[in-house]
Amino acid sequence: MQASSTNYDVIILGAGAAGLLCAATAAERGRRVLLLEKANKVGKKILMSGGGRCNFTNQIVEPTHFLSGNPHFCKSALSCYTQWDFIAMVERHGIAYEARKHGQLFCVHSAKDILAMLLEECELAGVTIKTHCQMGGIQSVGSAETGVSRYTVKFQTKLQQGVSNSESLECESLVVATGALSIPSLGGSGLGYEIAGQFGLAVTQRHAGLVPFMFSDAVKPLCERLSGIALEVEVTCNGQAFTESLLFTHRGLSGPVILQISNYWHPGDEIAVDLLLGVNAGQWLLETKQDHGKSSLKPLLNHKLPKALVNELALLWWSELIDVPLAEFSDKRLLAIGEKLNRWSLKPSATEGYRTAEVTLGGVDTDAISSKTMAAKNQPGLYFIGEVLDVTGHLGGFNFQWAWSSGYSAGLVV
Ligand SMILES: Cc1cc2nc3c(=O)[nH]c(=O)nc-3n(C[C@H](O)[C@H](O)[C@H](O)COP(=O)(O)OP(=O)(O)OC[C@H]3O[C@@H](n4cnc5c(N)ncnc54)[C@H](O)[C@@H]3O)c2cc1C
Repeated sequence: MQASSTNYDVIILGAGAAGLLCAATAAERGRRVLLLEKANKVGKKILMSGGGRCNFTNQIVEPTHFLSGNPHFCKSALSCYTQWDFIAMVERHGIAYEARKHGQLFCVHSAKDILAMLLEECELAGVTIKTHCQMGGIQSVGSAETGVSRYTVKFQTKLQQGVSNSESLECESLVVATGALSIPSLGGSGLGYEIAGQFGLAVTQRHAGLVPFMFSDAVKPLCERLSGIALEVEVTCNGQAFTESLLFTHRGLSGPVILQISNYWHPGDEIAVDLLLGVNAGQWLLETKQDHGKSSLKPLLNHKLPKALVNELALLWWSELIDVPLAEFSDKRLLAIGEKLNRWSLKPSATEGYRTAEVTLGGVDTDAISSKTMAAKNQPGLYFIGEVLDVTGHLGGFNFQWAWSSGYSAGLVV
């Protein structure tokens, strides 16, 4: 075991989206910055994001795209470093990008371009990055009398053949950018919450967010049978509605619309799915009965919905009338089927959890954090940025924008 000690102005824990941008920003101001990463490489979630193309921001970013115990908290950082600031950096680096629906911006080639850009910014500004770091403990050694903050950070770096290097470094500003609990294999960790607890900061309840649903009732085998089928629907839950693609999977329901609504779902809640967007299904069925009364219902619905789904719905909702002409359905029955088509009520048994969740809802309570600088109000020199905070974005590039905006805001002052 070797030991060393070099001091830095700023130590940032976690070289993900927020940590990398914060590091580059602080180092450009002339601060000596050390970025410590536990994994073998930095920015793993960036590389995996957006199906490998990284949905790095959105053309329209509003505070309403974020969930937090304090919905106003995100405003200051989002206006300090906007999507246009990040887009300008992407353009400076000559990265090709494209706008997809709902203003989502993706790399044309690869998410690797975004990581390479951030690493280049860090290198140009003189950031030191260490990977394979196992945190050993953090201590505040600042002086309460002078108000000068100082932290000791102990960690071990794995070298080759079982040799590890033990270090204890001091810094003036300590930035916690360790992300949240989702996808442990991509770096998901609870270290940020432990550090918050160590310094007396509250942490709100956490749940998996932007995550698929599972079912334990008859919907489970139905989803298995329809696995792979996708269609555009509106899903509503707890007063929120999203219109996007829904995907049946062998485990339950997924697709952008489900990930979006999962942020608003609590165990026990039902979701309502509108399968016939923009159509008053009851009215349409009554009119169709007039015009095509000799036909049964399935072939008519096959024009509007995937055939395999219509087969399943027929078994669920009009199984005794499957081959019966529409003219023989009572109006009351057609209105009831129409109501189900516009409001298919489903009760997920659970989400797939942190194993597949894109984000973690909840986190370090924003009441304890300055919305301008991301500094802990009660602990000079301690900062929290990115997903570790109780700020979660909708699907669509908003979570990265929060990482960039909060990382930059802290980078200006650490
Ligand atoms: C599969 C997937 C796809 C996604 N796609 C998108 C997308 O397209 N658009 C979008 O906006 N958002 C997307 N997200 C969400 C986005 O990746 C996160 O919100 C964002 O990365 C959060 O940034 P962060 O820096 O706070 O945390 P992270 O990017 O998670 O970085 C935290 C870093 O801290 C490190 N770390 C953790 N514990 C320790 C420790 N003990 N010591 C040292 N280092 C530690 C981790 O290894 C990691 O490198 C996606 C998420 C996932 C999982």
